[in-house]
Amino acid sequence: MIKKPSKNQKPPERFFEYLKIANTLLGRFLPSYSSCFEMCKLQASKNIESEGEANRAAYDATQKILLLVIRAHPALCQYVFGKPPETEISSDEYMERIGIYEQVRVFSTALAHIVQRAAIAEETRPGEEINLGITSTQIASTLNADGSLTHRAFDYDIFEGVNLRRFKFCPVCEEIFWLSRSDKQACDKCSNAYRQKTYQNKNRAELNKKQREAYKQNKKLKKMKEGKNGTL
Ligand SMILES: [Zn+2]
Repeated sequence: MIKKPSKNQKPPERFFEYLKIANTLLGRFLPSYSSCFEMCKLQASKNIESEGEANRAAYDATQKILLLVIRAHPALCQYVFGKPPETEISSDEYMERIGIYEQVRVFSTALAHIVQRAAIAEETRPGEEINLGITSTQIASTLNADGSLTHRAFDYDIFEGVNLRRFKFCPVCEEIFWLSRSDKQACDKCSNAYRQKTYQNKNRAELNKKQREAYKQNKKLKKMKEGKNGTL
């Protein structure tokens, strides 16, 4: 169960750590271990009769694919393995670390959903609580020595008590940020750029208004002049 958020509660430090990585993964496709393994097993069973051997081959193939995926995202790789992408990783180490990959993957997906849901809810029914709707389908998996997986529910206490409405997409860099003040419009690193942009837009609107007024005034004067000329 998700606790009701208190008004300005800040998320735990661990949340920001995850948020940083999640932002580098927004919109990227991250396959789950189980879907990848199932796909590889289907492929392996076409050529290998023994189920044990097919499992083994699928396990090896899954490892190769997931390593490629993880290495393609330096921040994710650093977090999962604590090493730069080019470093060799042993099979044992890989098995330990794949659980971390699954957690980051689930978190990133969940957070993107949450922010989207929050944005939708904000437009339609402000003040209403947002249902996460992810707990039943999102699970973390532990890799066993034979290549099979044990599933358990992902630890969602990281979202507990956190006001999910306070996560927003920054309109400038399009990353997810934590709304430390409710009147914040952009993330910390973009707030100056955002202010400048809105200031320019406001100025432009005012300039346009002035120009329109001047044009109208001119037209009026011209008409008056023409009228005068007509009477002469
Ligand atoms: Zn930003």
